[in-house]
Amino acid sequence: MHKPSDRLNRLAESATLAMARMSRELKASGKDVIALSLGEPDFNTPEFIKKAGKDAINNNFTHYTPVAGLDDLRDSISNKFFRDNKLKYSKDQIVVSTGAKQSLANICLSLLNPGDEVLLPCPFWVSYSEIIKLAEGVPVKIPSSVDNNFKVSPEQIKNSITKNTRMFMFSSPCNPSGSVYTKNELEQIAEIFKKHPKIYIVSDEIYEHINFTNEHYSIGRIENIKDRVITVNGVSKGFAMTGWRVGFIGAPLWIAKACNKIQGQITSATCAIAQKATEEAMRSDPKKTTLKMKEKFLSRRDMLLKELNNIKGIKCNIPEGAFYIFPDISYYFGKKYGNTIIKDANDLCMYLLNNCYVALVSGEPFGNPECVRISYAASDDKLLEASKRIKNQLAQLI
Ligand code: PMP
Ligand code: GLU
Repeated sequence: MHKPSDRLNRLAESATLAMARMSRELKASGKDVIALSLGEPDFNTPEFIKKAGKDAINNNFTHYTPVAGLDDLRDSISNKFFRDNKLKYSKDQIVVSTGAKQSLANICLSLLNPGDEVLLPCPFWVSYSEIIKLAEGVPVKIPSSVDNNFKVSPEQIKNSITKNTRMFMFSSPCNPSGSVYTKNELEQIAEIFKKHPKIYIVSDEIYEHINFTNEHYSIGRIENIKDRVITVNGVSKGFAMTGWRVGFIGAPLWIAKACNKIQGQITSATCAIAQKATEEAMRSDPKKTTLKMKEKFLSRRDMLLKELNNIKGIKCNIPEGAFYIFPDISYYFGKKYGNTIIKDANDLCMYLLNNCYVALVSGEPFGNPECVRISYAASDDKLLEASKRIKNQLAQLI
């Protein structure tokens, strides 16, 4: 008799958070779990940012703020966009939200009508497709594979456009593949959208500071499309501030106003204390603040790639950013462990979790069901131990 709404029934649970929950439960039951499932830096928030948060409490920044964020914070973000990305967004074009996840939800709820199609180059971050569905849009997946470095071609994008296409949404550096779209590739993509003035482009740049190519280019710089680009960013990844819950957008004024209106009815502004800490992060030199973390991620990437490349049947690209490796593990599909057949990446993840206590996330909710995602935001020791366990456990499949 009692049941949730159809809207809820259409949604999948967040696969990243579901795997994190399962590994926590297994750990609580006494198992020695290595959780490489959640995309969360294992570093602490830098001291000077934490101090700004403490000062904010002492100075009574404990009240509601304007829905889109404190003026000083939006000024600092406006400066950041120009300093780091050569993007010109005035303070009024910026909306600060409770994480970039809410920024994405605001955008979809503000711009999509029922049936509007959103192009998602695969692999895409798990929440994109579900947020789109929540807004009654239709996710349209554009396939890729490890053989083309998990990038889609301009031709593929062009062929996916229909009269219902309303949005193109992507992350670069990409969660989960780590691929970085170059300036040249983004220019080619922009050429397509110049001919389709009704399509919005959502550029999720939350991994901007974890980029090993040292070249981050924002598609919002490109003339003739920039009045349709929404740039999403935040502090969770680059500044190790996941729990503070701050993300933001730079957008055309009318879109910023629309997002402000939606947010004003759902959550109001994000936490005032977190906003003051974020202002400090924005005013700092990102190279200094984030460099040590980036260097550590790079050395872990190299170490983990070496280990994975020694495991039979695993195919990896070389991720150029973020902190994930997204290997193709389809070699193991159809293999058996006792009476259990590994049919797909979901089965493989459950097999590894239940038998050697390593938590990964299946590639299926990211749009690439032949892959698994491994987060290397963990210590070297844990990564080495996890690789050993994965290798031994996979060797038992026949
Ligand atoms: N975009 C991408 C690509 C992500 O990986 C994440 C991870 N959480 C987010 C957005 C949302 O981040 P947050 O809500 O913590 O700002
Ligand atoms: N973005 C991270 C991930 O992909 C955090 C978890 C989430 O919000 O989904 O694991």
